[in-house]
Amino acid sequence: MKYQVLAETYAAIERTTSRLQMTARLADLFRATPKADIARVVYLTQGKLYPDFEGIEIGVAEKSAVRAVAQATGVKEEVVARRLGREGDLGTVAEALRANRARTRPVLTVDQVHEALDRAAHASGSGAQTTRLAAIAALLKRAAPLEARYLVRTVTGKLRLGAGDMTVLDALADVYGGGREARHDVERAYNLTSDLGFVAERIARGGLAALRKISVVVGKPIRPMLAERLGDPHEILQKLGGRCIAEFKYDGERLQIHRQGTDVQIYSRRLERISTQYPDVVDLVHRHLRARRAIIEGEVVAVDPDSGDLRSFQELMPRRRKYRIAEAAREIPTALFAFDALYLDGRDLTREPYARRRAALQRAITPTDRFRLATSREVSDPEALQEFFEEAIQEGCEGLMCKASGGIYRAGARGWLWIKFKREYRSEMSEPVDLVVVGAFHGRGRRAGAYGALLMAAYDPQGDRFSTVCKCGSGFSDKDLAGLPRRLKPYMRKGPDPRVSSRLKPDVWCSPGLVLEIVGAEITLSPVHTAGWDRFRKGSGLAIRFPRFTGRYRDDKGPEDATPVAEIAAMYRRRLRRTA
Ligand code: ATP
Repeated sequence: MKYQVLAETYAAIERTTSRLQMTARLADLFRATPKADIARVVYLTQGKLYPDFEGIEIGVAEKSAVRAVAQATGVKEEVVARRLGREGDLGTVAEALRANRARTRPVLTVDQVHEALDRAAHASGSGAQTTRLAAIAALLKRAAPLEARYLVRTVTGKLRLGAGDMTVLDALADVYGGGREARHDVERAYNLTSDLGFVAERIARGGLAALRKISVVVGKPIRPMLAERLGDPHEILQKLGGRCIAEFKYDGERLQIHRQGTDVQIYSRRLERISTQYPDVVDLVHRHLRARRAIIEGEVVAVDPDSGDLRSFQELMPRRRKYRIAEAAREIPTALFAFDALYLDGRDLTREPYARRRAALQRAITPTDRFRLATSREVSDPEALQEFFEEAIQEGCEGLMCKASGGIYRAGARGWLWIKFKREYRSEMSEPVDLVVVGAFHGRGRRAGAYGALLMAAYDPQGDRFSTVCKCGSGFSDKDLAGLPRRLKPYMRKGPDPRVSSRLKPDVWCSPGLVLEIVGAEITLSPVHTAGWDRFRKGSGLAIRFPRFTGRYRDDKGPEDATPVAEIAAMYRRRLRRTA
């Protein structure tokens, strides 16, 4: 097939703003395309060589493209650059320059264009720039003027015809599926594979019947299922038919993991291949995923290496990088919380109800601290949902994902089968507080043999009690950690001190004595901590989220001088008022 046919279609599409017209022009193009070329034609029409997830970009800087145009047309580089400065579009500059010397008949084929651009895109190493330039210049030398316009735009990433994925799908349905009734099946195939060229080739060769047989493919990312959002537990349960599977909504990065034996690939929420960013996750999959061929989804979250506590999304962000990856993985360890299975050892699970997918996922994973299923609970009562929500917040999560247990996996769709239950607000806790140590937890990992976290309490002078508000494992230097046993020793005791009110059971109990300065992100309701119990809601206390030791031991304060519970309640109330 001649590339000129594509160039003429592009020119026609450029002349219109009507989506119907665009679809019609694309449909004409597809009709004229031999089956063997259809995938390449679809990719090229989108300014690409392969589906996005392959991550292969032609990506030539405009400056290099100027050089290629100069080489191909025999015009000085400065002249090309000057014209570009005047006209603003290197495509039309190349077109005009080629018009002066082009042969009359277009000779380039789609195959040749794709092959040459592919060579340019894959050039690597020290001679990459030269190879790239040579491949493009050679192509331009053989191009008719109109072809030159679009080739230049393609290599510089500026093709942008305005015909998006959905328009291409419309045209494919029209040409090969017999009309718009086929649109649903075409889109389904696309949602399952994220690969327009693949879908085009299937339907071109085998019609709708072949298209309907497409199921998930290991190695082709599935467009993610998305959630609606509500803030009220009653409403959520009502939408989901009175009951749901509620899961912790982790605050990290969504990963779609594809495994084919020893090959593990990871895709981001936007379906970019990011396997190299997470060598730790790849390793976890090798060691703990029992299925040899699998597509699963999960959230990767930064964790404190010593306490295992979840860290905020911001702390995961430095993991998005191209260099010094191993170092970042060491500095910011992660845990993976799996929440869906779309394919396991030969079984496409996307049409199975969620409860069954989850059960299959559970069987497929050997759980560890670093890789396990998202914490979940079956809930049918709004109170229980609210309580679980607070537990999630307390654990460092963003809220809950409430899922219809009978819901299928609706790839690429946002709908009411999943509902996110998040708070509408978030507020900083600006002031540090002084809290009393009432217990300690043994450390794990690097902190084995030392304390991993301390149970901290505020003081309630009315009842003369110390009520817990957080478990704090962050902010301690190595020196602090080494010194803790000595500091805590005078206060250690067998059971809880009678003045301490705690629903948590630490490994070691302490009498109130040692006061530390703590900062946190905010105050939340909590079913775990006892400060202000029943005050704002029955069965809930108040807690400090993401607590961190500031490094200041308040040896100048006795336990009764610690921040009063009433003050923490006031901070919580202030936030409520601000968000009302
Ligand atoms: P969206 O992804 O819905 O367009 P968004 O980017 O604002 O919107 P969120 O509001 O944070 O995302 O909610 C959806 C995201 O929550 C998912 O894409 C996923 O990354 C994350 N998530 C965390 N835990 C879960 C879970 N248990 N089940 C599903 N998704 C979860």
